[in-house]
Amino acid sequence: MPHPDSPTAAVTRESHDVEALIIGSGLSGIGAAIALRRAGVHDVVLVEKADDLGGTWRDNTYPGCACDVPSALYSYSFAPNPEWTRAFAGQPEIRAYLRDTAAAYGITPLIRFGTEVIRAQWEPGDARWHVRTTRDHYTARFLLSAAGPWHEPLVPDVPGLADFPGEVFHSSRWRHDHDLTGARVAVIGSGASAVQFVPAIQPRVGRLHLFQRTAQWVLPKPDHYVPRAERLLMRRLPAAQRALRNAEYAALEALGIGFRHPSLLRAVQKVGTLHLRAAVRDPRLRRALTPDYTLGCKRLLLSNTYYPALTRPNVTVHPTAVEAVRGSRVIGADGSGADVDTVILGTGFHILDMPIAQRVFDADGASLDEHWKGSPDAYLGTTVSGFPNAFVLLGPHLGTGHSSAYTVLEAQLAYVAGAVRHSRSAGWTSMDVRPEVQAAFNAEVRQALPSTVYNAGGCSSYYLDGNGVNSFSWPWSTGRMRRRLARFDPEAYVTTSGTPEQADGRARP
Ligand SMILES: Cc1cc2nc3c(=O)[nH]c(=O)nc-3n(C[C@H](O)[C@H](O)[C@H](O)COP(=O)(O)OP(=O)(O)OC[C@H]3O[C@@H](n4cnc5c(N)ncnc54)[C@H](O)[C@@H]3O)c2cc1C
Repeated sequence: MPHPDSPTAAVTRESHDVEALIIGSGLSGIGAAIALRRAGVHDVVLVEKADDLGGTWRDNTYPGCACDVPSALYSYSFAPNPEWTRAFAGQPEIRAYLRDTAAAYGITPLIRFGTEVIRAQWEPGDARWHVRTTRDHYTARFLLSAAGPWHEPLVPDVPGLADFPGEVFHSSRWRHDHDLTGARVAVIGSGASAVQFVPAIQPRVGRLHLFQRTAQWVLPKPDHYVPRAERLLMRRLPAAQRALRNAEYAALEALGIGFRHPSLLRAVQKVGTLHLRAAVRDPRLRRALTPDYTLGCKRLLLSNTYYPALTRPNVTVHPTAVEAVRGSRVIGADGSGADVDTVILGTGFHILDMPIAQRVFDADGASLDEHWKGSPDAYLGTTVSGFPNAFVLLGPHLGTGHSSAYTVLEAQLAYVAGAVRHSRSAGWTSMDVRPEVQAAFNAEVRQALPSTVYNAGGCSSYYLDGNGVNSFSWPWSTGRMRRRLARFDPEAYVTTSGTPEQADGRARP
């Protein structure tokens, strides 16, 4: 049997036993692999269905794509990048950063590209995850799902959309081969991606019709070019970049206080109102763009160019959901319509109904999705009862709405590394979170959520799952998240110990 690291392994249908298998090679998968190796686990494989790493930052190549958390914070704390050329880096730089970091930490050779997980099932007999992929078969002692909540495009169920005679594509699968010059374009959705690509395409298209179901709070983006001298300083003086990161973290945490005490958000909301007023003179358009809910209830957006783009003569804002598409006409629920030749979907992702949950099964063959019944939950957003030795990265109830995904991920990875270390030293073959511990955590979260802006802000957002329950948000500070996840708590788990071979990961099925 070829070792999984061998170049021939990916093209032969073989069985490999590894200590840890990570699904996905986005920022979570790469970060997890680094954390595991630091915890002493070297037998790690990442399986990635695409042909390159980077996840979101590989897939989202739409014009204007960039992060909306400052780059000094939207990066691993242990791998600061002094070379960011903007305060909020664009997609090409973020993608390059992930590639460089994976290479620098020796992770790239561990990735099996073009390998999609079809089914992963826990087998108590050999205390292993049995993972079927489009290529090889793996058994693994630990399974880490890093498949990404913002991965699978959400295509709205609009009658007639499938029969639209022109081009239709989702913002995360941008059709660069489709020339938008002079085109009549309908954009459906006005969330984080649309706010970035609308101003980028507006000067090029003939007409742009924005169908906006809900107006968004958009604040000014404190973005700027980072001069060469500043980059040199960051390179020479890593403490300066750490200080910048800490300052940005503190600023976002301060905003987070408002998210937990919405009455404090009035001043921030005023900034949003003034931002809109300064950019949009037309009272009708301004009314259409004024949100009717509290800022922070949906993901906060930052842009200096979105509102000005919407005032241009070739743009029409339809403050309505799309009801149907008839031929080449996109029709809003308010009766308005537009004849177009291109439809761009800025309609988001399957976040709380992520497809990977339908592919991961407990020992009895019930999927994670069946366990969750539409409302995902996990102990500390990370472990799920019935799914031993498995960890969900960027899992349920860890979303913050204002902070960096890296902050959440690194908090989780401290916990995962602790769990793996403890498991190895205690000789456990399996660790399964106690259902009552998971239920108690879930109850604690659900009790804290109602007073947060996510639940009380008067909006409908992607934080709410198909049952109308907020399964996304962490109702406290990220400081508290880091503290809660800093120490692995073995007493929260039912454990088994088997043969020494099983326990040290040498067992073979
Ligand atoms: C456009 C955009 C901008 C964002 N900007 C920010 C921001 O500014 N700040 C912030 O905090 N967050 C942001 N996010 C959210 C989040 O930080 C990113 O989505 C981030 O990339 C998540 O990393 P990930 O590794 O968990 O998932 P992903 O980056 O989605 O990576 C998941 C990987 O898993 C692979 N995969 C999925 N299923 C399988 C399978 N069955 N088998 C094998 N491989 C599989 C995918 O191909 C992918 O490579 C943004 C999201 C989007 C979409």
